[in-house]
Amino acid sequence: MEPQQESTVDGRKRRRRGGVGKRQKDSSCSQQAPPPAPPVDAASPLEKRRRKAGEAAAIPKGRKPASLLEKMRARLSGGHFRMLNEKLYTCSGQDAFDYFKNEPELFDVYHAGYQEQMSHWPEQPVNVIIKWLKSHNKSWTVADFGCGNAAVAKNVKNKVFSIDLVSDDPSVIACDMAHTPLEPSSVDVAIFCLSLMGTNFPSYLQEANRVLKPSGWLLIAEVRSRLDPNTGGADPDKFSEAISQLGFSLVSKDEKNKMFVLFYFRKKEKSKVAKNIEWPQLKPCLYKRR
Ligand code: SAH
Repeated sequence: MEPQQESTVDGRKRRRRGGVGKRQKDSSCSQQAPPPAPPVDAASPLEKRRRKAGEAAAIPKGRKPASLLEKMRARLSGGHFRMLNEKLYTCSGQDAFDYFKNEPELFDVYHAGYQEQMSHWPEQPVNVIIKWLKSHNKSWTVADFGCGNAAVAKNVKNKVFSIDLVSDDPSVIACDMAHTPLEPSSVDVAIFCLSLMGTNFPSYLQEANRVLKPSGWLLIAEVRSRLDPNTGGADPDKFSEAISQLGFSLVSKDEKNKMFVLFYFRKKEKSKVAKNIEWPQLKPCLYKRR
């Protein structure tokens, strides 16, 4: 069964609530984030960041909110996550990078909400990709574009360059993935797992093309509704065609999962980038209030 909503990825019914957590109208990423709270203790910046994000973190799955305060916090953090999510889908990678640079703790709020959403998916695409990597060559070098909590690097033996907007882990490269510090033709596998978020997503794929070796693999997992014309999404064939014009061949497409599709492309041995590639628009993936 397909996800039922047009631009959201939650099959559950939407509950209307007043006031708290209302979706913000502003979708510009260039606005300044609110000023950070003044320091209150001698904890390290990382510890403070974790604490601050933890205060707003979602209540773990399977545990009922115990108090009104906890319920309010969960509701606020859900609203905050959805606001950040919408921002990431409606601004450029550079704007997203600048935004999180000013308020890195928001990245933790985003990921607490993201993990909460993922916990409701029957299968997580990142796990399918990890399984695929484990069944292939361990000596392949991998670039995980938009790595989130770097699950790929943590679960495979390959050398993995984990890339995301924010890093509190020395093994994660913090940058806008349209411009990575990776060498040209240096990786065997490039992964985009639910990370083609920015309005300039083609520039992320161009960057992957730059760093991939000839015959390298390009794996893209995307939310089903973004690539389903029946729900206002892009035509998946046009999406594949654009990537082919970048110099790739579509090897296979895994459509058996309810929430996402997974494309396996391979860079051509002698790849050539076509002029004026027609990229389809990818609509934002907005998550419903739970
Ligand atoms: N791939 C991970 C996380 C997916 S969430 C997983 O499947 O679990 C999408 C991630 O892409 C977020 O962590 C977000 O910060 C990152 N991202 C989005 N745009 C980016 C950009 N321009 N540069 C680097 N990372 C980006």
